[in-house]
Amino acid sequence: MSKEISEVLIIGGGPAGMSAALVLGRSRIKTIILNTENARNMVTQHSHGFLTQDGAHPSEILKIAKEQLLKYKSVVYKKEKALDLIPNGDHFQVKTENQVYLTKRVIIATGYKDNVDQVGIEGLAEVYGKSVYPCPFCDGFENADKKLAVFGDAVMAPMFSKTIAHWSNNVIVFTNGDQMKDKELLSSLQKNGIEVIEQKIDKLLSKDGILEAVQLQGGRIIKREGGFLPDTKAVESTDFAKKLKVATEEGHFGMEMYKVDENKETEIKGLYIIGDARSGWGGVAKSVAEGSEVGAAITHQIISEKWAV
Ligand SMILES: Cc1cc2nc3c(=O)[nH]c(=O)nc-3n(C[C@H](O)[C@H](O)[C@H](O)COP(=O)(O)OP(=O)(O)OC[C@H]3O[C@@H](n4cnc5c(N)ncnc54)[C@H](O)[C@@H]3O)c2cc1C
Repeated sequence: MSKEISEVLIIGGGPAGMSAALVLGRSRIKTIILNTENARNMVTQHSHGFLTQDGAHPSEILKIAKEQLLKYKSVVYKKEKALDLIPNGDHFQVKTENQVYLTKRVIIATGYKDNVDQVGIEGLAEVYGKSVYPCPFCDGFENADKKLAVFGDAVMAPMFSKTIAHWSNNVIVFTNGDQMKDKELLSSLQKNGIEVIEQKIDKLLSKDGILEAVQLQGGRIIKREGGFLPDTKAVESTDFAKKLKVATEEGHFGMEMYKVDENKETEIKGLYIIGDARSGWGGVAKSVAEGSEVGAAITHQIISEKWAV
């Protein structure tokens, strides 16, 4: 296997990794970026809320990012999958199928992947990203005033429905057999016009990815035009950080996230984590921001290392 050396290697080329590569390219730092080109939101038709790219398809954003990166000769983009990340003294080894990369710094930007098949609702995978979504800030506007469903267990779905009700006053929560224990919350949902259906779902009825109705066990059919799913059974796309036992801390909504300093560097020197890979959910704008921050932070670190005192 041949070996390639870089100052920085980025694993993952979604919004976070590509943004880091752009700043490092502009800083003329030798950077390799490995990307399997399967960002989390590729399942959706339009990405929203990122300035100047509102409504663009995620593949269009990637295409433009790749074109713009090409200008920067110090960055090498490879459509390759990182298989292993091994610290080795003062550098890291990253292995792909046919190549070993040696680098002083690694940025993990591999994101999360959703596993809606594991939610246990027949027909959910067909509508996910087309009319049922995880995030109201991403797709609430397009679904405003529609007949909406919120799917999930009897804790998360009712709480989430309170947010969804900001966009539509026709919201039904489907807990798929889970019984709501918080009677106070149930009564507050009812007061706000949100119905909770605890009966088990038979399947979702849809056409070309557009939700049309929820069919309950027993045959009752409830018309819906779209929906939201707070728990997508998402997991980290890679286990690199876990294997290296990177320290974690409590993040938003009690979610565990990787602990980094102001440079996005973990307690392992030279190892950085950004975007969804760090926090579980960031959105495009936040991931781009973290990529930009880590690119500048690494540049400052390299400048300090080279500076004669
Ligand atoms: C249905 C849906 C709709 C969404 N809509 C929006 C929206 O409208 N607006 C918004 O702001 N956010 C939206 N999001 C959230 C957004 O997709 C993520 O927050 C964002 O993509 C995170 O960026 P990232 O770069 O951290 O990770 P990702 O975008 O997931 O990118 C990770 C990259 O790493 C690559 N990768 C993974 N493993 C490896 C490996 N071993 N080797 C090499 N490469 C690897 C992947 O192929 C991928 O390209 C949506 C998410 C979903 C699921």
